[in-house]
Amino acid sequence: MSPPYIYRWAGLLTTVGLIVGVAAVVLSDVGAPTVLATSEGPAVAASAAGPRARTAEDAPVRGMPGVARPAITSSRLSVTSTTTERPTVALTFDDGPTPQYTPQVLELLAEYRAPATFCMIGNQAAVHTDLVHRVVDAGHRLCDHTMSHDATVGMHDPELMSRQLDTSHSSLATVFQPPAPVDYFRAPEGAWTPQLDEVAARTGMRPLGWSVDTLDWTQPGVAAIVASVQQSVHPGAIILFHDGGGPREQTVEAVRQLLPWLQEQGYEFTLPN
Ligand SMILES: [Zn+2]
Repeated sequence: MSPPYIYRWAGLLTTVGLIVGVAAVVLSDVGAPTVLATSEGPAVAASAAGPRARTAEDAPVRGMPGVARPAITSSRLSVTSTTTERPTVALTFDDGPTPQYTPQVLELLAEYRAPATFCMIGNQAAVHTDLVHRVVDAGHRLCDHTMSHDATVGMHDPELMSRQLDTSHSSLATVFQPPAPVDYFRAPEGAWTPQLDEVAARTGMRPLGWSVDTLDWTQPGVAAIVASVQQSVHPGAIILFHDGGGPREQTVEAVRQLLPWLQEQGYEFTLPN
């Protein structure tokens, strides 16, 4: 015997409600905007060096950090976004240390009690061990950026690659006794390959990507560097700056302006997870 009409209608409405609910959840996820980050190096070198670090922004919904999802990167292992309930931002500085710029960056970071990650070139770290000490003593993290900024490292055979990363990793770690941890590896010019990911992970380093590329190495002007962050920052962002590799006065000045701005926006400075 059929149930009364009222129960049939109730059942039908419940079913429709469930379908609409599930569809809304699915659509809200795929609807998150995606922005491709550009590389830190020249485009020519990029195509020669293989797959690049492509990163996608998290949903840039300020005030709703809970909706952020892990960024997509060229490398399934790359760390490109901090995962947190609070709006945080991770600052990263590549191609140092340099006596001209690293101390200035350190001073600014200290002023705002902002921890950061320094992706150092081994050959420079070997010459400026005092700066490596200053970076670590101030609570910042070390990231291996190869001995000589070799963007072709990911194309070498795994054995050579492994030796290269062992060398650069220990060039940073053994500035300290006992050796300091080197948590991350960042491929020069973002020239990642799956093998490079694997070798870095085997060496105990997490591949570190980025989600906001300031393009500061092109020296586009302080205002452009500042604007690139102001327009693209999002909860969990990892921002790419350079404290070496060329004149970086613009970077230093941009960081000087951006630290208070980010703080005013409610961001907390953090290290990548
Ligand atoms: Zn670099």
